[in-house]
Amino acid sequence: MERKPTKISIIGAGAVGSSVAFSIATQRLVAEIVIIDVNAEKAEGEAMDISHGIITMGSMNIHSGSYADVVDSDLIIITAGVGRKPGETRLDLAAKNVAIARDVTKNLMKYYNGGAVMVISNPVDVITYLIQKESGLPAGRVFGTGTVLDSARFRYFLSTRLDADIRNIHGFTAGEHGESQFAVWSSVHVSGMRLDSFCAKRGIALDKDEVIKDTVSSGAQVIKRKGVTNYAIAAIAAELASTVVKNKHSIFSVSSVLHDYYGINDVAISVPSFVGDEGVVGNLVYDFTAEETEKLRNSAKQLRAFLDSLGI
Ligand code: NAD
Repeated sequence: MERKPTKISIIGAGAVGSSVAFSIATQRLVAEIVIIDVNAEKAEGEAMDISHGIITMGSMNIHSGSYADVVDSDLIIITAGVGRKPGETRLDLAAKNVAIARDVTKNLMKYYNGGAVMVISNPVDVITYLIQKESGLPAGRVFGTGTVLDSARFRYFLSTRLDADIRNIHGFTAGEHGESQFAVWSSVHVSGMRLDSFCAKRGIALDKDEVIKDTVSSGAQVIKRKGVTNYAIAAIAAELASTVVKNKHSIFSVSSVLHDYYGINDVAISVPSFVGDEGVVGNLVYDFTAEETEKLRNSAKQLRAFLDSLGI
């Protein structure tokens, strides 16, 4: 059977959207990439710039477009949004990005005819919830990158302290992509060996609080130095895009609207989930410890309160 050509649409051509497009292009993941932005010229410029390197990437159609061009996408990636201005509260910023997400959803749904929707715009759990509700799409079809980036940072900080290859270090963070997320220490192992045993055998005194503190603050640390974060999220988004396009059913700590997951309902939050061509195709009921369960429920409660304060 002939395989249908694959297509990814990216909405928002800023630092994140353009880096995601570049990352996907260098991986030769799809036949077509469409970049859409209210600033049509910016989207066109980004598509042109990436296209000029196609000689190293194989044949691919990378172009800018309008919302009508999302038709037949296997995946639509939302990166439209504004960054935080000095002195602005988290709530002010969220209100602005909620308004942008509403505009994006309205335009997108005029032409949507299938495909998963992956949200990157922040606050990612709020925007994921909003887009899922306002699009009327099935819960898992819209998912957010959530704590996948945080989990990558978590493993990175563990690998530097444990002096071991990051690929041998497993574990994830869950909850909100923000302050109330938590490290799922029960999930951490080094090449199959429990973290505490590994540290004892190797004579490593690991400060776990420091690892999670670095993980949660690392986005802000990068922003303080260069103004945006774009490369790590682009690499993560490309990995998730590959999982969707190839229908891999890989498990990632992505954000999706939960229904009776450890008693949590009606918030989008990150828990280990199977990702495939329909987005989140199932949440894994992970064996959280009692303490982790408490932290997850607390994070969900905080997110619900945040949604309430935004009138969502
Ligand atoms: P940016 O300002 O560089 O780009 C945002 C783009 O969105 C701009 O090109 C702008 O024209 C466009 N835009 C604004 N309103 C739009 C609309 N209504 N329709 C279409 N396009 C619109 O910002 P950035 O650095 O690319 O960041 C984008 C978003 O990604 C932010 O919300 C940021 O916080 C978020 N982000 C999330 C993660 C994560 O882990 N989830 C990581 C990094 C950044």
